[in-house]
Amino acid sequence: MTARGRLRVDIVACEGVAICAHLAADLIRTDSWGYPIIDDAPLTRRTERQASAAVTACPRRALFIVDGGSGLEPSAPQDIRDDHANPVPS
Ligand code: SF4
Repeated sequence: MTARGRLRVDIVACEGVAICAHLAADLIRTDSWGYPIIDDAPLTRRTERQASAAVTACPRRALFIVDGGSGLEPSAPQDIRDDHANPVPS
């Protein structure tokens, strides 16, 4: 049996519109400003469909699904943080 992924949010990219909470109500609730609070549990067959719908609909591309087995974060958000932390010398 393969480990299922987990839904994550790049809170810096997120605008707090909460479209995701409507599409993935079993996974996402919102704080008082409308920013998502995501259930950390591995996705199930049902919540995986909700998570995929939320990822697709997010206007800021702030949602992503990480590999449930490795615990690794996806490369794009990490690369962005690394670029800011280690600017290329001119
Ligand atoms: S849909 Fe995207 S931008 Fe809107 S609250 Fe959810 S994660 Fe943030």
